[in-house]
Amino acid sequence: MTYRAYRRCPNCGDTMQDFRELEGDAEKAAAEEVLRPVLEGHPFVAKDYHRCARPGCRRIQRKDHWRTGATLPEES
Ligand SMILES: [Zn+2]
Repeated sequence: MTYRAYRRCPNCGDTMQDFRELEGDAEKAAAEEVLRPVLEGHPFVAKDYHRCARPGCRRIQRKDHWRTGATLPEES
């Protein structure tokens, strides 16, 4: 079953959006990089985070805490 969650997204003007699991090693590595200041030394666990599924949005945040998150850099 495909994971889907409906959460508040601060990057989408604080509206409710669908979120999906982080996908693939590149996305997880990018997420870890951008979340490092948020982790405060704790290990990064990819399954604890999800990404806004709205096209163009790059927000990733904790599944259990929408305020804890970061924005992935633009893909080069
Ligand atoms: Zn969003």
